[in-house]
Amino acid sequence: MTTAHDLAARFGPALDTRPEILQEAAQDFGHLVRTEPLGVLRPRSATEIKDLLEFAGPRGIPVSARGGGHSMYGQGQADGGIVLDLRSLNRVGPVTDGQLTVQAGALWREVLAATLPHGRTPAVLTDYLGAGVGGVLSAGGLGGATHRHGLVADQVLELEVVTGAGEHRVCSPARHPELFHAVLAGLGQCAVIVSATLRLVPAPDRVRRYCLYYTDLARCLTDQRRLAEEQRFPYLEGQVRPSGEQDWQYMIEAVAPHDGPYPPDDSTLLAGLSYEPAALEAEDLGYGEFAHRVDTDEEVLRATGEWLHPHPWLNLLLPPDSAEHVVRAVLADAAFRDLRDTGLVLLYPVLSSRLRAPFFSRPSGEVLHLFAPLRTAPPGSPETVAAMVAANRAAYQLARSRGAVAYPVNALPLSDADWRDHYGSRWPAFAEAKHRYDPHLILGRGHGLRF
Ligand SMILES: Cc1cc2nc3c(=O)[nH]c(=O)nc-3n(C[C@H](O)[C@H](O)[C@H](O)COP(=O)(O)OP(=O)(O)OC[C@H]3O[C@@H](n4cnc5c(N)ncnc54)[C@H](O)[C@@H]3O)c2cc1C
Repeated sequence: MTTAHDLAARFGPALDTRPEILQEAAQDFGHLVRTEPLGVLRPRSATEIKDLLEFAGPRGIPVSARGGGHSMYGQGQADGGIVLDLRSLNRVGPVTDGQLTVQAGALWREVLAATLPHGRTPAVLTDYLGAGVGGVLSAGGLGGATHRHGLVADQVLELEVVTGAGEHRVCSPARHPELFHAVLAGLGQCAVIVSATLRLVPAPDRVRRYCLYYTDLARCLTDQRRLAEEQRFPYLEGQVRPSGEQDWQYMIEAVAPHDGPYPPDDSTLLAGLSYEPAALEAEDLGYGEFAHRVDTDEEVLRATGEWLHPHPWLNLLLPPDSAEHVVRAVLADAAFRDLRDTGLVLLYPVLSSRLRAPFFSRPSGEVLHLFAPLRTAPPGSPETVAAMVAANRAAYQLARSRGAVAYPVNALPLSDADWRDHYGSRWPAFAEAKHRYDPHLILGRGHGLRF
């Protein structure tokens, strides 16, 4: 068995084993799972990643890539192994020919800061810009532009990676395509992403953001489907919010560019929808301000301390024919009652045909709904946390029995059988890619996949 002493002998001071650093690497945004590594390595180059993986592989030492550290359930931890802290590789840019090469440890807010002065933006961004480039690309990345452009990962033109076998490769749809497709939305199983070249699109100067409210879920879902299919807005999301003591209201957030002298034509954009007209909200924002909208929430939650509380979050992708049933059932479940006080519930449409990464699992049907009950647990109450994770599990099982699939950035324990079911007919190909590129099975064990 390799010990901390062996690792120190091989990597010297590059391997950080200070207790406070190990404790930090044993945590993530979820604050639910805690496993300590033997050391944290901050690579300065792809060669240092290669050296580590060549050493760790034959010795069976687990290695997890970590960027922003926003995993929910230990996915970025390396129990008794090495956490590869990629924040040391965070170079961004420059923007050339409408594209940008960025190192995997950069955060999305650093990417946007480099592209906006050129009037460009990644075509799809997640709601929160504090996550790492490698972390979002390995999850897939869903956002308000997904119904139009697909996943964040679908915007990647080329990747530089080091495979679990220690091979340093540049891959793209034309060059080592199997590796390229195994890495995007591949949960860090086959390779460590070193850098990615992203497609950019023109960024609007300003946007008009509409919030449309509904008292009836079915009407809201119908309008979500219609707006997604008609592609009326470049950005489309939505939420479920508490209304009064018992009820819920449903919201569509639709955003249109607001460039040039004339404002968007509200009546054309909103024609034929069945929202409550008296509750309509519309505001004009700079595009950068809109893209950074979650920063304010983060500041408030850091100030109240809730940002550091446990986050038993759940993200599900629902098929068209059971979305209404599953949303109603989960919201009616007493185990999710705390959502009314400490939660945020996302509910928005994505189009399956736009999701291109082959290993991104999705339900059948074209207009899918992301349904994400995102809860915060009180600190120092392991029983409450355990009950919330158990409720996630029950909601997942209910949703799965109706054809749903998890978006796997969750606080949700999954068995071997669950993972096989998650990948369905793509499991043999995914397992084959894993054995080929990470033959010692050392990468990304925190996700709980077993091959
Ligand atoms: C406040 C908040 C809002 C969010 N909003 C959205 C959203 O709108 N849409 C959405 O899709 N997701 C969203 N997420 C989820 C987020 O995208 C994922 O949790 C993502 O994996 C976090 O990346 P990270 O780098 O911050 O996390 P980390 O914990 O550092 O990494 C997560 C995992 O990614 C893999 N990984 C990281 N870096 C690399 C690399 N270089 N190479 C290979 N694999 C790597 C590893 O397997 C690691 O376990 C949100 C999360 C939070 C906390």
